[in-house]
Amino acid sequence: MSLPYEDLSLYIDGEFVTGGGRREQDVHDPSTGSVIGRLPHATPADLDRALGAAQRAFETWRTVSPLEKSRILRRVAELTRERVQAIARNITLDQGKPLAEAVSEVTRCADHCDWHAEECRRIYGRVIPARFPNVRQFVLREPVGVCAAFTPWNFPYNQAIRKIAAAVGAGCTIVLKGPEDTPSAVVAIARMFHEAGLPPGVLNVVWGVPAEVSKHLIESPIVRKVSFTGSVPVGKQLAAMAGAHMKRVTMELGGHSPVIVCEDADIERAADMLSTLKFANAGQVCVSPNRMYVHEKAFDRFMARFIEATKKIKVGPGLEADTRMGPLAHARRLPAMAEMVEDATDRGARIETGGARIGDRGYFWAPTVLTNVPDEARIMNHEPFGPVVPCVPFRDLDDALRRANSLPYGLSSYAFTNSTKHALKIQNGIQAGLVNINHFGQGLPETPFGGIKDSGIGSEGGTETFDGYLVTKFVTQMD
Ligand code: NAD
Repeated sequence: MSLPYEDLSLYIDGEFVTGGGRREQDVHDPSTGSVIGRLPHATPADLDRALGAAQRAFETWRTVSPLEKSRILRRVAELTRERVQAIARNITLDQGKPLAEAVSEVTRCADHCDWHAEECRRIYGRVIPARFPNVRQFVLREPVGVCAAFTPWNFPYNQAIRKIAAAVGAGCTIVLKGPEDTPSAVVAIARMFHEAGLPPGVLNVVWGVPAEVSKHLIESPIVRKVSFTGSVPVGKQLAAMAGAHMKRVTMELGGHSPVIVCEDADIERAADMLSTLKFANAGQVCVSPNRMYVHEKAFDRFMARFIEATKKIKVGPGLEADTRMGPLAHARRLPAMAEMVEDATDRGARIETGGARIGDRGYFWAPTVLTNVPDEARIMNHEPFGPVVPCVPFRDLDDALRRANSLPYGLSSYAFTNSTKHALKIQNGIQAGLVNINHFGQGLPETPFGGIKDSGIGSEGGTETFDGYLVTKFVTQMD
């Protein structure tokens, strides 16, 4: 007998809420298209109740000792490790990624909780030496207040836990709208915080029509901070709305990560590593290596190996043991892929492998490699957010850096070279918040993660993780 899918609900003021005639939406298994759950939408009254609960809870949560906050975050880490298999299975069911990838996502999130549990005990202020002997000057770092957070469907557990752990650890309270397409992970997180003893109202989870929920929450005078992970256009809309009400923002937005493979690199190793990373989570990753610039003298060698490695990727339902790439997370990504490929081929691109949907059940798209792609093609300028990648040659490193930096985005970037001179030039010259050279190592709890240019504002993770959730208060005192 198969296990049931997550029992979906809202979580408001410490209660799991369903029914009551609320509007509901279907949740689908992207490997079959069949309905696996029904998700209740928050009414406007539910949103106000969540905001009121978060406001009340803030008055006490902000004064709770870091030790107690740390205890709760550690307990959630433990519960996550105990439940990793069940949570991961549900992520594979609603999001589609292979089970091994879902297990890895959830396991890493336990580490995120531990990191925040440790770091929240080190939110220090400072003492500034005064100009007079009877004056004392302090800098205090205080929680910003009630936060509204919006998280996407590609890493449903990871994106949510980063915002929740940072807000809760800093002493803020939070109303989070999770991804309606892939809700199981966020409900599982709410259950674990509930069981770990988080006081009612500190975390609230709501669902609904994204534009309606975000407008309601961001415009509320109760909310002092907005945190969003998702696409650049939506991020700009939400940041503008937050700006109109003078609210702080953290924006983790899309990118279009360039890859530079130098002639002196280990070409076969680079091709194998890039094929694995590019098609992880079916390419639906904000830091996916998306534009391959390969030195013209190494281009043919790289392509032969990259295409060979890509052709070996077994596509199938995420719960099948030998699956290396699952379906796209929802039906609307299929036409998005088709349009990108068609635009490129209309402009002269060649399909080296893939290029089309697989079957007509579920949302499977074949891993796709394009060559001979002109710089004007849509896929060279807009994030594909799927398993399609263009590969083009470059003449010298200046040419590669110019093309890599030519877009308004600046999230991640990749380079392969065995020359320290080239590595230094790339490290200093690339316009990106994340630079991976001969190695993929971003998104760890202890390292900061965030973009520059249109890719966002602020960092999550690292010792920077609480910065967006704190305000600075200066106190000067005379005897
Ligand atoms: P989309 O732009 O409609 O939605 C992206 C995400 O933003 C979803 O989670 C959605 O629920 C949310 N969203 C949309 N409008 C919103 C609003 N007004 N208020 C609050 N939240 C809102 O696109 P999509 O088809 O769901 O996803 C495809 C695009 O999303 C891709 O092009 C990709 O760039 C982007 N995306 C980025 C990330 C990331 O990690 N940066 C994650 C998922 C999706």
